[in-house]
Amino acid sequence: MRALTYRGPKLIGYDEVPDPVLPGSDGAIVRVTAAGICGSDLHIYGGHGFVPGTGYGVGHEATGVIAEIGPDAHGFAVGDRVLVPASAGCDRCRNCRRGLVAGCERRPLPIDACYGLGGALAGAQAQYLAVPHAPGNLLRLPDSIGDDAAIALTDNAPTAWYGARRARIVPGDHVVVIGLGPVGLMAVQSAFAMGAARVLGVDLIAERRARAAELGAEPVESDDPKSAIRDLLDGGAEVAIEAVGADATIELAMSAVRPRGRVSVIGVSQNPAFPVNMPLAQVKELEFHIGLCSIQSELPALLRLTAAGRLRPETVVTHHMPMSEGEAAYKMFAERADGVAKIVLDPWT
Ligand SMILES: [Zn+2]
Ligand SMILES: [Zn+2]
Repeated sequence: MRALTYRGPKLIGYDEVPDPVLPGSDGAIVRVTAAGICGSDLHIYGGHGFVPGTGYGVGHEATGVIAEIGPDAHGFAVGDRVLVPASAGCDRCRNCRRGLVAGCERRPLPIDACYGLGGALAGAQAQYLAVPHAPGNLLRLPDSIGDDAAIALTDNAPTAWYGARRARIVPGDHVVVIGLGPVGLMAVQSAFAMGAARVLGVDLIAERRARAAELGAEPVESDDPKSAIRDLLDGGAEVAIEAVGADATIELAMSAVRPRGRVSVIGVSQNPAFPVNMPLAQVKELEFHIGLCSIQSELPALLRLTAAGRLRPETVVTHHMPMSEGEAAYKMFAERADGVAKIVLDPWT
């Protein structure tokens, strides 16, 4: 089969690789019909991968049809249309049984929990994908949810929903979303679905602010977003959702909320020494949440909301490309060219 592989910094191969084999008696092989490129794939593309070495399959966002199923994968059959959550659990330990796949107690290393990081799970930007413990790591798709929405639901949409849920948005809240990539755009939609009265969107890129505005958010058009947010919201928001992970944007989230505000960080921070302004946090009685989404536990609600048209995850997809042009797609995404937010690849062209 064909798959995209990491060959070195800024080098993505379109390679012939061995077909996957069924990963155990409760596993599945999915024939991939669409694969997404995620912002976190750019860490690997840029040469900051999670494992040393090259040659491994990349990508963790896939949807498709079951091509082969183990005898113990109850509840699924060949031909079922499924989405593959970006990370997989053992489906057996205490945490996985509660849907908290991010806290799986049996995975040897964190990189083994997600597809396409060079660990135990192969890349999803491929024609076929082996899925272990299928009953816990696959969800059947209704016909009303298309492939673009399904790709957003493998990772970006549940991460956004989780961030909004942790911030406990209640009807009438004012919400600021910082970072308007696919996750931020889904956070805007999530906040409205939870009853936010107003949602402000902050991003350096004008095209991203415009896209958030199409979803009903008010773009913050200022070089000084901190004061702009205070002015627009009479002192600050009840909730700030941070979808970047940089020190400056986390600090902005903390200053954007009113006293007793709730800050929810879903951007991936790579700074072990983040400078928390403790006096500010204490005086404001800030509530601070940070975490990694357990996708499986968010998806039942999201599938219903999407099927009912209350969330439209497909709106984050801006480009479709053949997987054979994978390298060009990564380059375009890395350079933020052509207003790109999310690229969906067709593994068969
Ligand atoms: Zn992703
Ligand atoms: Zn587990």
